[in-house]
Amino acid sequence: MLVVMDQKATTEQVEAVSAAIEARGFKARPIPGGERVAIGVLHNDGPVDSSLFLGLPGVRDVIPVTKPYKLVSREFQPEDTTLQVGDVAIGNGHMTLIAGPCAIESKTQALTIARHIQKAGAHLFRGGAFKPRTSPYSFQGLGEEGLKILAEVRETTGMPVVTEVMDNEHFDLVEEYADVIQIGTRNMQNYSLLRRAGQAGKPVLLKRGMSATVDEWLMAAEYIIEGGNSQVILCERGVRTFVRHSRNTLDLSAIPVIRRESHLPVIVDPSHAAGRREQVIPLSRAAVAVGAHGLMVEVHHAPDEALSDGAQSLHPQQFEKLCRQVRSIVNACRPGPVELIDA
Ligand code: PEP
Ligand code: MN
Repeated sequence: MLVVMDQKATTEQVEAVSAAIEARGFKARPIPGGERVAIGVLHNDGPVDSSLFLGLPGVRDVIPVTKPYKLVSREFQPEDTTLQVGDVAIGNGHMTLIAGPCAIESKTQALTIARHIQKAGAHLFRGGAFKPRTSPYSFQGLGEEGLKILAEVRETTGMPVVTEVMDNEHFDLVEEYADVIQIGTRNMQNYSLLRRAGQAGKPVLLKRGMSATVDEWLMAAEYIIEGGNSQVILCERGVRTFVRHSRNTLDLSAIPVIRRESHLPVIVDPSHAAGRREQVIPLSRAAVAVGAHGLMVEVHHAPDEALSDGAQSLHPQQFEKLCRQVRSIVNACRPGPVELIDA
């Protein structure tokens, strides 16, 4: 349930309504908005009697919330969320490009790729230091050494860095180095990790679980926001299907659904969806046209020698081409991708 306050409601009235909500055993979450202050009622097991709050001073309306997710929903917050990572904005009206290798392999590798992708137009650098690998015999990432290399990339290029946290044990360490903390597909429903991410002071890039519904994905984001961290970016990266022509199936239909249901920014990772380099540019074009707020793409200067996901990593010239094509699509959709979606 959402208690919507009058535009002219005083701080005291908002506090009094919050206190009335908490006195009933629920949790009150004031949500300041552009035009109104609303107070979310959380932790209720079933429907709440709206008459409990309707008559209180300053209350304009009480709206039942029909969806299981609340804080991530447009019902709770109609305006789009735009996040700021250093100088880079992520959200409506922006096209944020994140690129880099699957895994950080060495300082030379990371810096070489970072220079290429920055020149092409990328805003953020990605690279895994802790890698979730299907096989225990595969390269597992450089760990803290990889994080230190990421810090050097940031220092040298000025680009903020995105890297994955795999477990609670390493959360503090990853949070110290990362500008954006990634939670991978395999951990989307790792609830203790989501709770820890809720306490983080940095934006969290939450990838969709490989067999998660949109509702389950949004509920995972709800954990992070409910825990106190409202800086969440969603990332569609393909779901597991029966097809063999790609590693996963990029669920582009999820993008307009997310944009309708949620105020959170949503980006697309075409690389892990495709698994094959030749599909990455076409899928990127489609993702931008369908309304994604950004892309996260794997790029390697020598993909044949990459220690992970070489087959899906773009050559730097291919990433340059991708950026050019994306810019054309963004321009065609001006003043913002949302114009195209709503058409
Ligand atoms: C990654 O982005 O490096 C990664 C492992 O992706 P995913 O969690 O989507 O498989
Ligand atoms: Mn990868």
